[in-house]
Amino acid sequence: MMATVKARIDIHVHTRFSADSIADPEDIIAVAKARGLSGFAVTDHNTSECAEYLESVGLMNPSGEAVDGFLIIPGQEITTCAGHLLAIGCSLPSDLKGIPPEEAIELIHRHGGLAIPPHPYDFFRAGIREPILEELPIDALEVFNAATTLRRYNTHARHYAEKRGIPMTAASDAHHPEAVGTAHLIVEVPSLTVAHVLEAIRRGAELHQAYLTPKEALKKTWNNWMRFGKRQSHRPELAQFEARKKSQADSTDQPV
Ligand SMILES: [Zn+2]
Ligand SMILES: [Zn+2]
Repeated sequence: MMATVKARIDIHVHTRFSADSIADPEDIIAVAKARGLSGFAVTDHNTSECAEYLESVGLMNPSGEAVDGFLIIPGQEITTCAGHLLAIGCSLPSDLKGIPPEEAIELIHRHGGLAIPPHPYDFFRAGIREPILEELPIDALEVFNAATTLRRYNTHARHYAEKRGIPMTAASDAHHPEAVGTAHLIVEVPSLTVAHVLEAIRRGAELHQAYLTPKEALKKTWNNWMRFGKRQSHRPELAQFEARKKSQADSTDQPV
C-alpha cells in the first residue's frame, strides 16, 4: 500500500485582501501552523491577489506543492449574481463579481479547480439557494460553516448534500487569524499538493466540525467594523504590494 500523509486543511479563509478582513496572511499561517493544520485555501472575496502576494514572498509555490511542509491553496469566494461560490485550487481573475454561477463554475473547471457553494441555507448571508443549486454542476457542498448565523442552516446544507449524494466540506470562514481551522477537512494524501487535496475532497474528506466560541464570533463582527479603519500592514513587503496594486487600479480607472 502506498504511504499517505494525513493533513488538516481549512478551505475557506479570508485575509486582508478581502474588504471585510484585516488579517495579514502571515499571521494566519502562524496560527494555522500552531494549531497543527497542514494548510488552508485563501478564499478572499472576488480577488486572487493574496496568492499573487504569497508567491512573490515565497510562502506559496506556483507548482502547487507545499512550502516548508505547509500548503496554501489558491482560491476565491466569488460573489456570483445568485450568491457566494468558493473556487478552490485555482487562481482566477479579480473581476468576476456579478457573474452568473454557471459561468463561474465553467471557468473554475477550466482552471482545474473545484466549485463549492458555501453557506447555501444561511438566510442572513448571500448563499446560492436550493432551486438554483439544483441546476448547477457543483463538485461539493460546504455543509459546515463555523461562522454560520444559525446552526440549523448547516444541518439543512448537510441534508441537501446527502440527498444529492455529493461530497461535503467543513471550514472556518475565518476573517481573523484566531478563527482559522475552527472547522476543517482531514484528508489522506500521497503527498501534500494542491492536486492531491482536490482529489481527496472529490472522494469525500473527513469533516472536523466545531463552532467559533461566542467571543470569536463577536470578534468577526468587530473586524467587520474595524475594516473601515483598515491600516496598512506593519510588514513592509505586504504594505508595498498593496500600494502597488492600488496605484495600478487607480491608473486603470482613469479614462484614456
Ligand atoms: Zn460567504
Ligand atoms: Zn467567506
